Amino acid sequence: MAKKYNFYAGPAILPHEVMKKAQAELLDLNGIGLSIMEISHRSKDFEAVINGAEAKIRSLLGVPENYTIMFLQGGASLQFGMIPMNLLKGKKADYVHSGEWAKKAIKEAKLFGTVNIAASSEDKSFNYIPEKFGFSPDAQYVHLTSNETISGIQWRKFPDTNGVPKVIDMSSDIFSRKIDFSDVGLIYAGAQKNIGPAGVTLVIMRNDLIEACADGVTTMLSYKTHAKEKSLYNTPPCFAIYIVKLVMDWIEAQGGLAAVEKTNELKAKTIYDAIDNSNGYYKGTAAIKDRSRMNVTFRLPSEALEEKFVNDAKKEGFIGLKGHRSVGGCRASIYNAMNLEGVKALVRFMGKFALENK
Ligand SMILES: *Cc1c(COP(=O)(O)O)cnc(C)c1O
Repeated sequence: MAKKYNFYAGPAILPHEVMKKAQAELLDLNGIGLSIMEISHRSKDFEAVINGAEAKIRSLLGVPENYTIMFLQGGASLQFGMIPMNLLKGKKADYVHSGEWAKKAIKEAKLFGTVNIAASSEDKSFNYIPEKFGFSPDAQYVHLTSNETISGIQWRKFPDTNGVPKVIDMSSDIFSRKIDFSDVGLIYAGAQKNIGPAGVTLVIMRNDLIEACADGVTTMLSYKTHAKEKSLYNTPPCFAIYIVKLVMDWIEAQGGLAAVEKTNELKAKTIYDAIDNSNGYYKGTAAIKDRSRMNVTFRLPSEALEEKFVNDAKKEGFIGLKGHRSVGGCRASIYNAMNLEGVKALVRFMGKFALENK
């Protein structure tokens, strides 16, 4: 089978080494004669997997002691609701309206209290990260979207929230760079962009916020339940957690987050340079200062050429380059598992396409 370069926004590619390892162990995990999918989530073998995943997440991200790591289900989309359900308690929260994902989070929060839009970049189709904020001193939390996957913008540095806990959707850039945990209350991410297959959602939450969660929330939607039961209240997505563990091993083998971050910067620079040096043939759509290192959004001179670009690319093995249906254009998602070689191959194709399709 010919190698494909997968630039889809999600679910995204996984490291080849991870897939090979999972394949080799699929029928027989560690010589126990059974698959990871066939053993009890209460067994010693699974315990080693989930505890191993948790320990590696903690060490690679540098998660402080006073935070709990949870493996939940329902995707980042369930977190949009679960967060205000547990933390808002009829009070107020600040949301930065930076894109389509933030919009969905805001919609859910309004069901549980007052939402103050502390800043918005809707005036320019979310092509930049706001810089001026009207934070409320009495907010329960400030919600941010670390990387807006659709419009291709990413925070370089999170704003100072003056002690109000930050709640951050990191679905599309978690483990792509180091995280500063100061004033972080909760981080969440659907696994399928950077850390594993769909089906598991990573939540990292400060313990005082867990203790302060609303009472009267249905058992499965309460963070208290999952924190207390170490993500084993009910059957967790065992296979997905196992793959997360393998991805953590892979990140460690790359040299940890600092090394991964450096590679991601180089990959992003390679493709943005190609866009900026194309004499205007390719045009980046995000404000330069806020360009995402994970999702590169760009346009061609016409929609007809964009369609041809996506189709021709596909024939050459580059898939998933069509922009999100809500914004059009093109998008190359270059998550951790996309290597520099893949990005360089795409850049060569872009150069050739521009020459041949004036
Ligand atoms: C993909 C994505 C989501 C949605 O994730 P699901 O796991 O499909 O619910 C939310 N936020 C961001 C930033 C995303 O990239």
